Amino acid sequence: MSANKETEFYDVAIIGAGPAGCTCALALKDAGLKVLLIDKAMFPRDKVCGDAIPGRAIKTLKSMSPEYGAAFANFPHQYKTLQTKIFFNKQELCFTWVQEAYTCTRFEFDNFLFNMVKQNTNTTILTDTQIEGIEQGTNAISFTANNKSRSYCTKILVGADGAHSIVAKQLSTNIIDRKHYGASVRAYYENVAGMNANTTEVYYDKDFLPSYLWVFPLPGNKANVGFGMVSAEIVKRKINLKKTFSHLLKNTPELSLKFKDAIQIGSTEGFGLPFGSNFGKISGNRILLTGDAASLIDPINGDGIGNAMASGKLAALQIVKCFNENNFSDMHLKNYDKAVLDAIGKELKAHYRIQRILTRIPNLLSFLFWISKFKPIKKWIQKMI
Ligand SMILES: Cc1cc2nc3c(=O)[nH]c(=O)nc-3n(C[C@H](O)[C@H](O)[C@H](O)COP(=O)(O)OP(=O)(O)OC[C@H]3O[C@@H](n4cnc5c(N)ncnc54)[C@H](O)[C@@H]3O)c2cc1C
Repeated sequence: MSANKETEFYDVAIIGAGPAGCTCALALKDAGLKVLLIDKAMFPRDKVCGDAIPGRAIKTLKSMSPEYGAAFANFPHQYKTLQTKIFFNKQELCFTWVQEAYTCTRFEFDNFLFNMVKQNTNTTILTDTQIEGIEQGTNAISFTANNKSRSYCTKILVGADGAHSIVAKQLSTNIIDRKHYGASVRAYYENVAGMNANTTEVYYDKDFLPSYLWVFPLPGNKANVGFGMVSAEIVKRKINLKKTFSHLLKNTPELSLKFKDAIQIGSTEGFGLPFGSNFGKISGNRILLTGDAASLIDPINGDGIGNAMASGKLAALQIVKCFNENNFSDMHLKNYDKAVLDAIGKELKAHYRIQRILTRIPNLLSFLFWISKFKPIKKWIQKMI
């Protein structure tokens, strides 16, 4: 595509205004660059998720400005998570968290971040704008939106467009490897018995290890309830996720009691999880991938919001370096891959190894429950997850 007179020019174009894209825009606040943030959705918008906002998300938010952290601490639509209870084989284990974490619907959380960008930066924001054709030139990247009715040109493009990223296709990195990909379903419920606002609950079943069913409390007497598995196992064992989810809710003794009078709100929705266990190329030719577009979800606990935000911030730091040094070469961008690998990638690889071990030796979980009676070991396990 050649740039015509209607083409809009930017220094940085961020595709996707989820946690990764909004964090990148926030972190570019004082860079003095002309930044465009585009999303195909209108905000507030929903995103299928467990709605657990992990410690890394809050840490990243605070690292950009303590004010952002304080604003979220006072946000009325969240619950602070103080502990997680894990249930397995009639045993219960409780982990108390030191890092600040929350539960909050993605409808509210993503809108919070989106408003932060609107209120605190000079970013040009376009919603209801779907990106299609991307063309990589030597000195810039061009792309179109909304059936080619709009065209843009940018010096650097950030792919923050989630699990089905079209930006990642430019780097040919979004080929699904089922060993490193998951699928999950989730539903909202009202009136779940015995919920504590500050406690998230996780249920393991010996037939579906290392997957788990989660019950996360939300304001308004609601809960986010879901279940997910590694795609390779779903295919190998011919598992129907929605049926298994409903089977577990009815047949796990603790859960059948909890959900006796619960009412489901809306339908059960499913979505993919690109795990970060096969850390690959996440930059190249004026492109940086962040969040799910870069496949950064933790393969053990399914956390992706914190990693999306951390990568969004690291992408912004790399972009500033590119402009300062006027160097947009592949070699220079590789520093971003290294920064993400150092910050997140090694942990993701370690978690993948644990996930594989638990898949092969399901009895190990019983042993871990037993050995967690010893405080130092429990602390170590808590660190690992
Ligand atoms: C069932 C399920 C449960 C999960 N539970 C948790 C959890 O409890 N905690 C946790 O930390 N993580 C969880 N995750 C992972 C988490 O949802 C993702 O890691 C996170 O949303 C990644 O953020 P992101 O900004 O990279 O992408 P997204 O949040 O997916 O945002 C991408 C944005 O890009 C926009 N977009 C896409 N394509 C285009 C296009 N062509 N043009 C313009 N805009 C576009 C979309 O509209 C969207 O707003 C879960 C995932 C699933 C599927």
